[in-house]
Amino acid sequence: MSVFNAHFFRQQCYINGCWVDASDQQSAQVTDPATGDIIAQVPLLPATDLEACIVTAEKAGRKWTEQSAEQRSRLLKKWYQLVLEHQPELAELMTREQGKPLTESAAEIAYAASYIEWFAEEALRVQGDIQNGPSADKRSLIIRQPIGLCAAITPWNFPAAMLTRKIAPALAAGCSIIVKPALETPLSALALAALAEQAGIPAGVLNVVTGDGPTLGRVLTQSNRVRKLSFTGSTQTGSLLMAASAQHVQKVSLELGGNAPFIVFADADIERAVKGAIESKFRNAGQTCVCANRIYVHHSIHDEFMQRFKEATQQLVVGNGLKTGTQIGPLINREAVNKVNQQIEDALSKGAKLICGGPAVEADGLWFQPTILTDMQADMRCAQEETFGPLAPIFKFTDDAEVITQANATPFGLAAYFYTQNIDRMWRVAEQLEVGMVGVNTGIISSASAPFGGVKSSGIGREGSRFGLDEYTELKYICLELEGKA
Ligand code: NAP
Repeated sequence: MSVFNAHFFRQQCYINGCWVDASDQQSAQVTDPATGDIIAQVPLLPATDLEACIVTAEKAGRKWTEQSAEQRSRLLKKWYQLVLEHQPELAELMTREQGKPLTESAAEIAYAASYIEWFAEEALRVQGDIQNGPSADKRSLIIRQPIGLCAAITPWNFPAAMLTRKIAPALAAGCSIIVKPALETPLSALALAALAEQAGIPAGVLNVVTGDGPTLGRVLTQSNRVRKLSFTGSTQTGSLLMAASAQHVQKVSLELGGNAPFIVFADADIERAVKGAIESKFRNAGQTCVCANRIYVHHSIHDEFMQRFKEATQQLVVGNGLKTGTQIGPLINREAVNKVNQQIEDALSKGAKLICGGPAVEADGLWFQPTILTDMQADMRCAQEETFGPLAPIFKFTDDAEVITQANATPFGLAAYFYTQNIDRMWRVAEQLEVGMVGVNTGIISSASAPFGGVKSSGIGREGSRFGLDEYTELKYICLELEGKA
């Protein structure tokens, strides 16, 4: 059966428990980046429709808050089970709209589901505190309460996991939420909503609206009913949203861009480092916020690392993600291809050497051969900007202090990776890197149990882990005076 006949394949917004078109009938096409085929048509929701959605979602949130934590947890668990039950079809739908290989899509569905399961369990552990008061007759009680109506805006590179990382903690905390997925990849989001409906999550608690980012973002930040905005996407958009959300002092969480250094020290296990670099650099064709952006290799092992890394890179299979064996799918759009091309051309013009791959030409469509550059310098564009494509630039270094300075010489601070077998260096370097997350001898760091997030221009707040729920609650302090104890 085609995935487009699946019961969760939807081309309408999910608002207050109903599947609806835009009131003005405007819509946008969704294309398969591997073939260019139009695979769906989703509403381009006008501002007025979203304003109405905000009212119903806020109302539904009040009832949801009143349900017991056990009941919320049970419904989330049911949703989790349905997502896992449909993992193969959801994976196929994701590959059709996003392009990533089917194995990666299936892994993302499992990863997305793991956030629902994690927060279904965390829902039961929302805890406050009781303290001695400021004087003998006073006691301080501290409770956590749901923050209220939440909004989430998500990117196209992880069409399922970036949503569940926000929806699951919001629902677990007792909040309702409105989600706006990227227009490139709305189908996974709508499919998740259809399964949430099937799981029995009440009408209005989870809403998915499709449409133009700036139009819908303006409505969400201008409404004083929306108490929390969680955004994942580029630093540029995140910064605009942060400024806009200041109007009503909305609480914001921002998961933004990265420029991860990947450092291979002289004492590294080179085979593990090559494996980690391949996984970190080329997963999702290099379109992940945590992917290795700059690879620093100690001069004493540079040639050996390069030889092995080149061999492994040249074995990667580029093709349609639906085809068995594909490891690198297409890039998301022409703009993404142009950006990687420009970074390669800039580096070559400043003295870099091309080891394999190279700029894509028009006839390549959105396919991009994994590319390695050496003889890199700090003033090249790919040293300074996020690449978001399958380009691996290799920098040589000689000592620890020099490489740490270079690694930190970026406005971003999301993830960093390094390989060493020396325990002193492990601690020292991990502490010195100015990032939110560090992988030591591994290129893969994400999990529902870990606090995911960045520092500097990479964002504010953490998703996942026990800290992830805090973002959707407010602390309330209650001061209680006891009679006759003064
Ligand atoms: P983007 O252009 O910032 O778009 C992300 C989302 O924001 C989309 O839904 C987009 O809607 C919406 N949007 C765009 N302009 C807006 C505005 N003015 N107001 C409100 N919403 C607006 O980012 P992207 O290109 O999709 O995603 C790639 C970026 O995401 C990279 O920088 C990557 O590093 C970052 N990312 C970060 C993390 C993390 O956890 N730190 C995870 C994944 C990705 P449209 O559909 O209309 O464009």
